[in-house]
Amino acid sequence: MGTMLYLGMGITLGYHRLLTHKSLKVPRPVMYFWVAGGYLALMGAPISWVAVHRLHHQKSDQPGEDPHTPRDGIEHALYKWMFTMHERQPSEEVRKQVADLIDDPVLKLFGIDHSAKQAQLCLWINIAVRVAILFAFGPVAFIANLLASITVFWSPQFVNTFCHLEDHGYRNFEVRDDSRNVPWVGLLAMGEGWHNNHHAMPRSARHGIRWFEFDITWCTIWLMEKMGLAKDIVRPSMQPVSAVAAARAAASKARGDGAELVKAAETAISHAREEGAEFVKAAETAISNAAANVMSTTSEAKAP
Ligand SMILES: [Zn+2]
Ligand SMILES: [Zn+2]
Repeated sequence: MGTMLYLGMGITLGYHRLLTHKSLKVPRPVMYFWVAGGYLALMGAPISWVAVHRLHHQKSDQPGEDPHTPRDGIEHALYKWMFTMHERQPSEEVRKQVADLIDDPVLKLFGIDHSAKQAQLCLWINIAVRVAILFAFGPVAFIANLLASITVFWSPQFVNTFCHLEDHGYRNFEVRDDSRNVPWVGLLAMGEGWHNNHHAMPRSARHGIRWFEFDITWCTIWLMEKMGLAKDIVRPSMQPVSAVAAARAAASKARGDGAELVKAAETAISHAREEGAEFVKAAETAISNAAANVMSTTSEAKAP
């Protein structure tokens, strides 16, 4: 369990919220501590990972542009995308994406591109660490570590896939991409399955917003802040609106607007009566236009 939390949050807290989105500031050794967790979850070079994920936010769900949108196929979103990155994002493009990290003396040691070399380095270091665990702590610890690592490795792939599929989960925010909040991914991926919230507010250190959206990575960041290990934490800037609440609000707004329009037309009619028949006709047309407007906006708002 400890391994799972460390490796999992190595990705969510280290690679994702800290390096990619700059959602918080931490002392350098703390940064390396979390980033090491992500590296030991076979995420590859931190700089390369950040470059991919920033591109994902810039081109979300644009086929052929977003590195891992399921619009390019489920298998592509799950794992095939990893083998296409050297073509999709050449070294110069990686450099542009990560200008803020490229000069870090430690991070750059693990690679600054999508070459097979950096992936192999990550794989060998991961194998070496597991062999060390086997010799130091025995086969039970080794197997437990292996199972935790496999689960953690697939979690972000599940976020990339299931949290961008229309028939999964729900949305709190109407954003331009397909992102969704998927509860089982939310729990498995240490709070990152509340992915619609994340796409609505990418810089927020907190992804779970509503009371039931449990986000263990956020709990850890909150704790780090209390312990003086994190500062300048970016908090959510928007309140979520459920789809039903949004529809109700839109409907009542339409009714409100409609009533106002009708009232305006009635005033116009009463003025018109004083002015003459021509004005009455104009005002009546205004009223029927307003009524048609109310009908269409109300029925649009009622649609799911
Ligand atoms: Zn996404
Ligand atoms: Zn992100």
